[in-house]
Amino acid sequence: MAGILFIISAPSGSGKSTLVTQLRTLVEGLDFSISYTTRAPRGSEENGREYYFTTRQEFERMVAADDFLEWAEVFGNYYGTAVAALHHAKDLGKDLLLDIDVQGALQVMKKTPQAVSIFILPPSPQILEKRLKNRSAAEKVTDESIIQKRLAGARNEIKQVWDYKYALVNDVLENAVAEMRAIVLFERGDSECESLANGCRTDAASLKLKTVLSAFGEDLPDFHR
Ligand code: ADP
Ligand code: 5GP
Repeated sequence: MAGILFIISAPSGSGKSTLVTQLRTLVEGLDFSISYTTRAPRGSEENGREYYFTTRQEFERMVAADDFLEWAEVFGNYYGTAVAALHHAKDLGKDLLLDIDVQGALQVMKKTPQAVSIFILPPSPQILEKRLKNRSAAEKVTDESIIQKRLAGARNEIKQVWDYKYALVNDVLENAVAEMRAIVLFERGDSECESLANGCRTDAASLKLKTVLSAFGEDLPDFHR
């Protein structure tokens, strides 16, 4: 296997974790990097499964020791991808999937231009708000300010979509999973997935992508008008 690095970013609540979980049941040979974070575990999260939960002090020690491929502060907490995750995937002969925010993604794209970047969008701000609220209710968190912070963050992050090679809209889950699978397989050389994957290229700027961006009040760059 080629050892492809896939970067996946999405505004919180877009359904990235749901998509990635399904993708991993459909596609073999994908290793998933477990990030370090200083935020507290949420819901049923376990140390070493969703994240390595750590202290700010330990995180800063790792930054100083150059242990991270990238790191960023997101919503007041540190998050980082350990260089060790790359070595681990390579040793296993697998491709590696990074679930990281746009700040981290830009760092990785700069260091590793051959990385394949995918941005996941929710269908509209209204649906994003609904998904954030549903998830909070399921986790028994009722802090409205967290939801508003994440919605505002989403509007900012979405501006970066053109820096990514692919963008997909998580409207109907099965369709989004099929598109993500097609991108991974096409990047591995499976030409049968070419048309579905190419439809998601940001430089193709599909009508679906343009519609979502305009729902978020985002202007299209000149070259896509
Ligand atoms: P993220 O990882 O991007 O923060 P999650 O995967 O936790 O988002 O999804 C946020 C919420 O939206 C969850 O309650 C999830 O079940 C729901 N969800 C995800 N994808 C869809 C979809 N395509 N349609 C409807 N609900 C979805
Ligand atoms: P959450 O707290 O909801 O799990 O994640 C918040 C944000 O942090 C998401 O956008 C997620 O992609 C991002 N994130 C998770 N791990 C990393 C990481 O290692 N590096 C960076 N830069 N962002 C991360």
